[in-house]
Amino acid sequence: GVINAFVAVSAEPDTSHSQRSDGTSPLSESEAKSEEDGNDERPLRGLTIGIKDNIATKAFRTTCSSGILANYTSPFDSTVISLLHTSGADVIGKTNCDEFGMGSMNKYTIHGVVVNPFGVGREGAKEDAPIAGEERSTTTNHEDTARSAGGSSGGSAAAVAAGMCDVALGTDTGGSIRLPASYCGVVGYKPSYGLISRFGVVSYADSLDCVGVLGRDVGVVERVGDVLAKEDNRDPTSAPGEIRDMAREATEKRWGDIESGKRKLRVGVPKEYFPREMGEGVKGRLRKLMKKMMTKGGQNVKGGGIGVEFVPISLPSTPYALSAYYVIASAEASSNLARYDGVRYGVYVKPPRMGLDEMIKAAGGVGVGEGGRSAADVYAYSRSGGFGEEVRKRIVLGSYALSAGAFDNYFLQAQRVRQLVRDDFGRVFGMKDYYHASEYPSPSPSSSSPSQNSPSTHPTLPPTHPNVDVIMHLSSMRTAPRLSEDKDLDSYVQDVLTVPASLARLPALSVPLECVGDEWPLGVSVVGQWGSDGLVFRVGGMVQ
Ligand code: GLN
Repeated sequence: GVINAFVAVSAEPDTSHSQRSDGTSPLSESEAKSEEDGNDERPLRGLTIGIKDNIATKAFRTTCSSGILANYTSPFDSTVISLLHTSGADVIGKTNCDEFGMGSMNKYTIHGVVVNPFGVGREGAKEDAPIAGEERSTTTNHEDTARSAGGSSGGSAAAVAAGMCDVALGTDTGGSIRLPASYCGVVGYKPSYGLISRFGVVSYADSLDCVGVLGRDVGVVERVGDVLAKEDNRDPTSAPGEIRDMAREATEKRWGDIESGKRKLRVGVPKEYFPREMGEGVKGRLRKLMKKMMTKGGQNVKGGGIGVEFVPISLPSTPYALSAYYVIASAEASSNLARYDGVRYGVYVKPPRMGLDEMIKAAGGVGVGEGGRSAADVYAYSRSGGFGEEVRKRIVLGSYALSAGAFDNYFLQAQRVRQLVRDDFGRVFGMKDYYHASEYPSPSPSSSSPSQNSPSTHPTLPPTHPNVDVIMHLSSMRTAPRLSEDKDLDSYVQDVLTVPASLARLPALSVPLECVGDEWPLGVSVVGQWGSDGLVFRVGGMVQ
């Protein structure tokens, strides 16, 4: 159809998967048992779910929207797919995305671009106010007015927005769930890094990749998120149970104090998240929400009476996050994509037969293959033929950042910025970072880091410590751009608000803001400390 959200659909409803086909449960025995003991063994029964096409499924091809995997079908299901089946969900098909998750507009795909369903049949709707100094095209040609669903999980967001499925899985490396959720007017959840298994999910940049959920309301997204957030020993980056437990306990304690009225919910609003390039109209929509939350507070939360306090904060390393992100993501991608060589993985593109001279030359290098084709030729032809332009660009960029001459100035520097971004967040949250605390020794007691303090009461925090529970900011700089707007750098800039949480591995939930008149959808992001996903959902519920 016009929207182009699905790239494969099942012929009939999927009812055969109450168990994994090899008869084993993906859960540990105790977990499986506690589920049996619960009231509902199949908590997602009847829910229709679309799956981003970079998540491996036995029942459908997994193309990653790439020519190089155009005919690939995985021999196994990802852990998340097994968990969905065990929970009774109905996996109905695969959704379009940017190639290997690289992109922000779902344009880089062999399946054709995804169109934002919000605009279908609504071509006259208003544009964002022009950004200062920018010329806006005033064309009224309808071909030209179709808008992007965002990317890279554009198919997942569009499928949910158009009502083609209840929920969709996406992946988020630097914003690929939150950005399309914002543009399409749906809820998008990027969990804390390591909470949901990546086993069977095609790697883009492992240190950032997260599987997450898109849905029409916060409740259904949380339900699916809960089912998927299981420790998995087949994913070496899966967070260990003890760390999950510690973070959950600390989160519950904080929320308990807020819910019981012992103190107010403290929401940090970072000043760096309102760059000059952001339109005034867009900013106004966040202001409106803040007003509503302060006056109505938690009226729509059971028990009511939640006091909300907005705290101006500063996350000073924010302006450097985007560049660091693109260096790290490209570097990891160049390494991950090396496996698609036309031999081990990916389509084989036959190089032309060589003449004798070339054969002799090649033999001095990599060795002459069958019919006078060198291995290097096979790689070069297969990779040039299979990968799209954007992916090839990232491979070149990433290989450069990792090369001996550039490593110190690019890759290492980007890692330092990543640490600064994480420290920024660590200084404002009241709760400690249990994930990274387990990785590194804790800082000295003289440090001003909040991690030394108990998560709920802070007798030793300096009085000026922001001690926030969550951070709130717009999920995107603007509403959905037109598909005809084709400025490469612009599309990188769209990620500027979402990459910091990715670099710091924090949970982030994008919830649609109220849309009045002819306004286009726009999301607000709630970001929490690592493992405080439950709190992020509570606050997200107050927004919608
Ligand atoms: N647009 C960003 C990129 O291309 C984010 C992608 C993602 O989160 N998968 O890298």
